[in-house]
Amino acid sequence: MELYDVVVVGGGPAGFNAVKTIRSVYPEKRVLLVNDREDLQIPCSIPYVVSGRIPVEKNRYPLEKVRDLGAELKIDRVVSINPNSSQLFLESGKIVSYERLILSTGWVPRRLNLGEENLEGVFYIDTSTEGVSRIKEEVEKAERIVIIGGGFISIGFADLISRKLGKKITVIEASSRIASGAFSSEITSEMEEKLKSQGVEILKNEKVSSFEGNGRVKRVVISDGKVDADLVLVFVGFLPNTKLAVDCGIETERGFIKTDSYLRTSVDNILSAGNCTFHRSAIDGEFTPGMVASVSARDGRIAGLNVTGPRVEDRGIVLAGITEVGGIFYGFSGYTEELLNRKGFIFKKVSVESSDGYPSAIGAKSLRLNLYFLKNGRLIGGEVVGSSKIVSSLVDLISKLIEGGESAERIASMNSVAFPPVTPPPLLQPLQEGALKFLTS
Ligand SMILES: Cc1cc2nc3c(=O)[nH]c(=O)nc-3n(C[C@H](O)[C@H](O)[C@H](O)COP(=O)(O)OP(=O)(O)OC[C@H]3O[C@@H](n4cnc5c(N)ncnc54)[C@H](O)[C@@H]3O)c2cc1C
Repeated sequence: MELYDVVVVGGGPAGFNAVKTIRSVYPEKRVLLVNDREDLQIPCSIPYVVSGRIPVEKNRYPLEKVRDLGAELKIDRVVSINPNSSQLFLESGKIVSYERLILSTGWVPRRLNLGEENLEGVFYIDTSTEGVSRIKEEVEKAERIVIIGGGFISIGFADLISRKLGKKITVIEASSRIASGAFSSEITSEMEEKLKSQGVEILKNEKVSSFEGNGRVKRVVISDGKVDADLVLVFVGFLPNTKLAVDCGIETERGFIKTDSYLRTSVDNILSAGNCTFHRSAIDGEFTPGMVASVSARDGRIAGLNVTGPRVEDRGIVLAGITEVGGIFYGFSGYTEELLNRKGFIFKKVSVESSDGYPSAIGAKSLRLNLYFLKNGRLIGGEVVGSSKIVSSLVDLISKLIEGGESAERIASMNSVAFPPVTPPPLLQPLQEGALKFLTS
């Protein structure tokens, strides 16, 4: 039986970053990463692989790089944990002992459970290279593709497959809007228009009740009829993968592993990081889903730093994300208009039009922001629409301002860098302009 200072279970962005942090900050620690699969793909760029922009072999997830960091890697599945003896039991029969354990077991796809497992041609996302190659081949062969679920990741998928491969796509969404968990109705209506102009059919307020087909899927049955399909991609959400934790008695909340503000679970020497972990909002301390790679990467660093004891506090997250529709990037950060209404916040929305360079002769393109301020002036949410990388910088900046509890006055007085090819014009800096609009409205 081997003894490690730290064992990390799960090598996604949370586990990988935990290992990287521990090996660089505490190089004396003997670290083992256990992951059940080896040949994986970077999940965020899978839509770009399937639509042909990136070859599958160029999208490999570099799990083995943890060895270069001085950690050990075992490709094996942890089948159980004994927290009393601090031991892990692996599928191979091996037993591993740990001083500290980090659980970063990630997500599993939410399933429909409508008998689809008995039909060929119905796919859930599988991040293995084999799985992604299979989906890519199937998408290339298919004429009519049905995508079940219209969340912000799946509509990016629908956009790329229709725009780049010219496939006939139908998106079936259970709620009244696509991407409603991320964007306001103003933005989602625009996305819908773009998707429709590319030939994507969007069926809203529709639930799938069953599938038809003899061996292979032929039709998807919804309340309002049937949709022909020779391929179905199901994206109805992610669930936290917490079985290991639950089985050994670690406390959970809403199905996620519960932690304190140092990412320590209810068991003394076990921490949790990434999609399996319960997240709180930095805005009001309430539950917020944090099932994105960016949050997992952050969690990994926090758990890694705290592996020798409390050092860095988790002050909550500001959920943010970006998707692409029709060649335009749509980003969001913080609370959405819908959520603000649901939570009963009194807020004001201001909109700003600017550009991602100056003067326009340099090739600057349009940039739009919606900012949401509470009555007292605190920034609480934002949306950014543009066609360059500046969208991500602004989404990140908005997140930091929200996290810092910044007000319209503070934002109006902020300095932002200016350089013609890569920034908005100094006379139209979108965040400051939005703050001014709030203050004067
Ligand atoms: C198509 C797609 C696009 C996405 N796009 C984005 C994006 O643009 N931006 C973004 O931020 N996020 C995106 N995401 C979400 C992002 O990929 C996840 O949030 C992220 O991978 C979660 O990281 P994690 O480390 O928490 O868990 P995971 O990546 O799920 O890693 C957990 C690992 O643990 C392993 N494991 C589980 N149980 C065991 C066990 N018992 N023993 C051993 N190993 C185990 C799993 O096999 C897995 O490899 C996307 C996801 C998908 C599917």
